[in-house]
Amino acid sequence: MAVLLRHERLFTTLPEANLMDGVDWEKDDPFEEQRERVESPMRRLIFEYGRPYWFSVSVGLISSVLARALDLLPALLLAVAIDAIFGDAVFAEQVPLSVLPEAWLPATQDGQFWFVVAAIAASFVFGAIFHWIRNWGFNAFSQSVQHDVRTATYDKMQRLDMEFFANKQTGEMMSVLSNDVNQLERFLNEGMNSATRLVVMVVGITFLLFWLEPQLAIVSLAPVPLIAAFTYLFVKKIQPKYAAVRSSVGKVNSRLENNLGGINVIKSSNTESFESGRVEDVSRKYYDTNWEAIWLRIKFFPGLQLISGIGFVLTFVVGGYWVFTETAPGPLTGTLQTGTFVAFILYTQQLVWPMAQFGQVINMYQRAEASSERIFGLMDEEGRIERDAEADALEVSAGRVEYDQVCFSYDIDAGNLVIDDISFEVEGGETVALVGPTGAGKSTVLKLLLRLYDVDEGAIRIDGRDVRDVSLSSLRRSMGYVGQESFLFYGTVEENIAYGSFDASREEIVAAAKAAEAHDFVQNLPEGYDTMVGERGVKLSGGQRQRVAIARAVLKDPDILVLDEATSDVDTETEMLIQRSIDELTENRTTFAIAHRLSTIKDADQILVLEGGRIVERGTHAELLEEDGLYAHLWGVQAGEIDDLPQEFIERAQRRQARTEVDIDATDDD
Ligand code: ADP
Repeated sequence: MAVLLRHERLFTTLPEANLMDGVDWEKDDPFEEQRERVESPMRRLIFEYGRPYWFSVSVGLISSVLARALDLLPALLLAVAIDAIFGDAVFAEQVPLSVLPEAWLPATQDGQFWFVVAAIAASFVFGAIFHWIRNWGFNAFSQSVQHDVRTATYDKMQRLDMEFFANKQTGEMMSVLSNDVNQLERFLNEGMNSATRLVVMVVGITFLLFWLEPQLAIVSLAPVPLIAAFTYLFVKKIQPKYAAVRSSVGKVNSRLENNLGGINVIKSSNTESFESGRVEDVSRKYYDTNWEAIWLRIKFFPGLQLISGIGFVLTFVVGGYWVFTETAPGPLTGTLQTGTFVAFILYTQQLVWPMAQFGQVINMYQRAEASSERIFGLMDEEGRIERDAEADALEVSAGRVEYDQVCFSYDIDAGNLVIDDISFEVEGGETVALVGPTGAGKSTVLKLLLRLYDVDEGAIRIDGRDVRDVSLSSLRRSMGYVGQESFLFYGTVEENIAYGSFDASREEIVAAAKAAEAHDFVQNLPEGYDTMVGERGVKLSGGQRQRVAIARAVLKDPDILVLDEATSDVDTETEMLIQRSIDELTENRTTFAIAHRLSTIKDADQILVLEGGRIVERGTHAELLEEDGLYAHLWGVQAGEIDDLPQEFIERAQRRQARTEVDIDATDDD
């Protein structure tokens, strides 16, 4: 009974731990495509990542086998004691002692008693030592592999193309790095441990029973196939239920995450009770699915208890009758000693636990396999950008950039070009501004330069060298990027400015901050440059964050500067201040600037007006005003000279919007 209670705890605790995963790893797997490509993931895991730690795992395995074998010894010694010390059988003739030379065995009853006591004590002491080593071995192995896999996966993940990230949610990638990696650790530790216990116990007990008394062994082991079949059926039935539970936990988590993220909207729309209702719905669904799994578990254990009870009763009836009548029942022959009978009873009980765990081992293996498929799928991901490890470093001299008949689309198969045959040249040190309506492709033009994506046709050259022919790191090193959203890492202001220029001195950092008009506000922060900012830190305004980002670019001192609406988040007054520093920053440096506020780029050497992925107008501010096209009208509206765009432009914009919406609908339908 005590043994059975222990199983029950095992089955009721493990699934609970699984619930914390919060991922549905079978249905709607966002990594389906990656998983399909992976072959023999478990072999790769063990041989690729496990190899350096072969010592700890071998020590773990050997100690595990020895520890489990020693666990079986006390029952055997008890049998000897009952028959030869407390009973009247001959000590040296006991089956378990027949392996030892007779000369080793004591002759007096007193000596025999202490011999057995010493053997039992020794088996406990050595058992404890081997359990300790086993624990160390498996844990050292699984923790090391887990660490290596996690760091390697992260390293690979951050090198993947932006395209990969665009199609995945952050939560999904986090779940690979945390849940999937943990799943491997769980299998390599608990799974391997349970598997060795299962094998040693089942093989060991079967062997011992047959060795002690083969006829009774057949009787005692008769229900084992039944236990195996029953457990198998249980696992088969409960697995889909676990999958449903995981899926519903995932839904609860994403609902909560979504709601807490959008708490502002919920409060301002006064929809608290509506959202509480939605949370209640998903939580109720979780309750229901979980209850189904629990109910199955509740039914399983009495069933298992009943079957093992049958084995117990059978052994007790046949063995007990055999012992007290001193005649073999039915077709059986020979005699059965009380001690052997007791050993049988103990062993049949010891067998049930590992048998019941069989399903768990299979379950853990399957989950680890699915997780390693996802992990290796990610590791094998190649992406569209070809990386040539041998490529030369880019040496920027003049800083002349040339776009030569560039075409690009995010989705090659869909075929709608986001960048449609764009050509232009920027001389070293000049500033080119990209303007045009949202969705025209301005950011995409810059992403191609940074090689976050590769062009489909044409080429982009810096000082005559195709960006695809130089190493990616040298290309990105030569560029400074200030985007619309200036992300700050959790750390000090100083660390955020020096991000990427890690060996900069405090003086250089302060100089950069001064150039970016950031020095004054930084000094007013509670701890100046040592103030913690970013998530969990002091909250900076959009304009302040932007200035930190500009300071970062100033410090990097890049050959080519990319400003993607760098001043969109700041008020007009700050913008004027920043503009001065930007002018200084862009002087003598090839600069690409995207801006909605045309006043910020009117001094650019060249302005390109983009619409629908094409350059529709180009020239200097004065030339474009002269041309009286889209730019001139946008300028007029922004400068307050005209009230509205001419009808022609508005209609064009409406048509474009409608087209985008149709595109989105079409994608939704897919
Ligand atoms: P702009 O900077 O001019 O507003 P973008 O270059 O951001 O325009 O976008 C151009 C077009 O490409 C838009 O239709 C946009 O929806 C699409 N687009 C932008 N980024 C992606 C992406 N990662 N995947 C697919 N389509 C994208």
